[in-house]
Amino acid sequence: MTPGWLKLRHYLRAGIASSVVLCASTLAVPAQGSGTNPQDPVSHTVYQGQTLGMIARRYNVSIAAICSANGIRRSRPIHPGQKLVIPRKLRRSLSASAAKRAASKASSGRSGTKRSSESASRATSPRRRPDPTGPYARRPRQYGFVTLESRTGRWRGTAVRPDGTIPPSARDGFERSLASWRTGKTERIHGRLIRMLTRVSDHFGGRPIEIISGFRPPRKEQYTLRSKHNLGRAVDFRIRGIPNAVIRDFCRTLPNVGVGYYPNSTFVHLDIRECSAYWVDFSGPGEAPRYATPSGKDPAASKSRRARQTARVKSTTKGADGHGATESGPTPKG
Ligand SMILES: [Zn+2]
Repeated sequence: MTPGWLKLRHYLRAGIASSVVLCASTLAVPAQGSGTNPQDPVSHTVYQGQTLGMIARRYNVSIAAICSANGIRRSRPIHPGQKLVIPRKLRRSLSASAAKRAASKASSGRSGTKRSSESASRATSPRRRPDPTGPYARRPRQYGFVTLESRTGRWRGTAVRPDGTIPPSARDGFERSLASWRTGKTERIHGRLIRMLTRVSDHFGGRPIEIISGFRPPRKEQYTLRSKHNLGRAVDFRIRGIPNAVIRDFCRTLPNVGVGYYPNSTFVHLDIRECSAYWVDFSGPGEAPRYATPSGKDPAASKSRRARQTARVKSTTKGADGHGATESGPTPKG
């Protein structure tokens, strides 16, 4: 047995073990508190399986800011039912004094380089660790409310209730919206995929999610033998007005998901799985998968056709759900 295999086995085991803990993280986190003033702190009740990191991501604030606001230490475990105060991130509407402080901090120079500082002002500073999806992130009118648009239908409704459950109407709506565009066949969409898409929707302010392809019945010609699309566990989608690279970056923050990025196509692939995976596929519409080289480049850009084939065979072992852009069908206009 090669060391590579040993490594793979190790990862698989670790993945299975950690999924027990991590899968609980897929519970949707409703926002709580009045929230009348966007700068007011909100109260959050910890759910089973949640970590400080998840909560921080959920509200787009730093872990340090939460710790500071609640007088807790990052290393101390939080528990279900625990109430936490979530400080609001200072956004565009920086108060005059805060803006002044930020300006003086910037002009006074390198004093803010000490990374270990956990002071509240630093933790909530908008300069800290810029979020690549930041400018596009928006607070939705209603958390858990999703709009799906696809060629098989449009559905709007509560996908995940504040208590974290999925109403039957949402299961139906997802099933219809993610039906096979080829055959119209439907498949039950896995609850965790519904939750993940809801998190994406919430993060981008509840903008409509355009489904390019959801469920696909197994076909002999498909590129991946057991595609998660065949199981109601994968979706190709985009969101109008949001660059796919931004959607990709946010999807990669979700726990235990596969994310496929298609620079020459029009969608992001998202699936649910035990261990997170990420791949880049340079294929365009109508082409076979063409996965990025280890250095992240398009194999077609520099290599011969033979090398391209080899690269493809090698990279399929990484867990990519390579379906080729063909299987997503012609892209809807717009
Ligand atoms: Zn896909």
